[in-house]
Amino acid sequence: ILTMASAVHWFRKGLRLHDNPALLDAVQNPTTTYVLPVFCLDPIFLRPETVGVNRMNFLLECLQDLDQQLRKLHSRLFVLRGNPLEQLPVFFRKYHTRLLTFEFDTEPYAKQRDTQVRRLCAELGIEVRTRATHTLYDPEDIRRELGDRPTPLTYKSFYAFVTERLGQPMSALDAPAPASGFQTPDVDLDTYTVPSLSELEAYQGLEVETPFRGGETEALRRMENFLRERADEVRSFAKPATSPTAWPVASTTQLSPYFKFGCLSPRLFVERVRSLRPLQQPPVSLIGQIWWREFFTYVAYVTPHFHQMQGNPICRQIPWREAADDARYRAWEEARTGYPWIDACMVQLRQEGWLHHLARHAVACFLTRGDLWVSWERGRETFDRLLVDADYSLNNANWLWLSSSAFFHQYYRVYSPISFPQKYDPNGEYVRHFLPVLKEMPSKYIYTPWLAPVVVQKKAKCIIGEDYPHPIVDHAVVMRENMRRMREALDAGAPQRVPKRPRRDANEA
Ligand code: FAD
Repeated sequence: ILTMASAVHWFRKGLRLHDNPALLDAVQNPTTTYVLPVFCLDPIFLRPETVGVNRMNFLLECLQDLDQQLRKLHSRLFVLRGNPLEQLPVFFRKYHTRLLTFEFDTEPYAKQRDTQVRRLCAELGIEVRTRATHTLYDPEDIRRELGDRPTPLTYKSFYAFVTERLGQPMSALDAPAPASGFQTPDVDLDTYTVPSLSELEAYQGLEVETPFRGGETEALRRMENFLRERADEVRSFAKPATSPTAWPVASTTQLSPYFKFGCLSPRLFVERVRSLRPLQQPPVSLIGQIWWREFFTYVAYVTPHFHQMQGNPICRQIPWREAADDARYRAWEEARTGYPWIDACMVQLRQEGWLHHLARHAVACFLTRGDLWVSWERGRETFDRLLVDADYSLNNANWLWLSSSAFFHQYYRVYSPISFPQKYDPNGEYVRHFLPVLKEMPSKYIYTPWLAPVVVQKKAKCIIGEDYPHPIVDHAVVMRENMRRMREALDAGAPQRVPKRPRRDANEA
């Protein structure tokens, strides 16, 4: 066995068998006998302070699902543990690898890692083949078409350019990797197994609270259920009309964790949605949401230092509060701002690892330009740790947007932590669920409990200042101050144009 040549398919994202042409390349390669599907648990990601327990558990479930599906095809997943630059060459030598396939990745860490792996493969005489299947289009195709033109920095111009130049995206592959030809040797049966969470030392004792179960099987099941049971909503889907307080049944698909890890192919999703003949168009339609992902992934790919202010050519330089004012950030992160709507969202984020888009808007606006004037980079870090769907490109892009640092210019449009949720949920059922301390607060005061007379607070068994905090800032006051600061920052030389008349864009309310 060990003398026959093998092809290794390296899973990173793209944790699926369907619509996975790089995997198929490995399976169908005529000059190699065996296929070895590999995942490498890189210690850089095994840190609860950067990858929260909900997401780590989700990833392990994805790997378990992949392993089970591969076993049905008489194969399996080989999980290597350690730095891929050290682990892969050992594995390649052991199994006489001649071909390495993987899905192309646009993120900075991945780009650097993959360059090194390619170099290593060149030294070992291993051919490398990659496919760009995390997005609808290959980002390199878009870059080539753009040539010397500047990167389109609005959704509209990006969408128009890509559809005009590249037409419809390629169709998803019909069949999963075929069972025949999927030969994997029966070796090392007790090693390279998928670990359980308790085997990961750093995560021991941490509690998994998210309702999201990882894996391709679950992703396909959720997608098909949504398309079948909510077909009318899919057809008429208009993002600004969906509700951020809908719970436990969300008003959007909740497929983001599955797209993040590539358990679900965006091309397959778009085809399945299209078959229902949607009535709306991008940007507000459901397919239009996948285009936000496409747009932000591309801009993140070609923009240096996209994840920070410094050295990021599209980011406005805004003088956010210094780190010395950590107390504000902590209060926000720990759901202690005294604004029930904001705190309830932060509890949902911590417990479930997911928030509706407009809830993300509300808490991001509150932390940055709306109320607390804390840098978007800090909020991004919190989201990065706590979201199950945390994605380098989408997370940074949306934080840039919400803080008016890039893409979005209407800094004078601020979400009220009081009247905004009231529109969707006048009785505050969402708040009552995630902040049980306010369960008995009358609806009149559910978003402003500090205004409730003491007798009302007593009756509701929630004394403000004791059982639940006073508001950390006065929204009406700080909002004005912050607008002035933003105006000054723009006048002082932030380069972007500010349009005269407010325009509504579908990425916000
Ligand atoms: P649906 O409305 O059902 O949309 C389907 C898919 O389209 C989503 O799963 C997602 O892949 C994509 N999509 C939808 N909206 C956006 C958007 N604005 N930008 C990019 N892609 C979008 N999304 C992430 O997947 N990962 C993140 O780390 C992330 N961070 C965010 C941070 C902030 C501050 C904000 C405001 C938004 C962030 N989003 C992020 C975007 C968006 O909120 C989520 O993708 C969406 O809420 C996920 O729910 P859904 O799957 O039900 O979305």
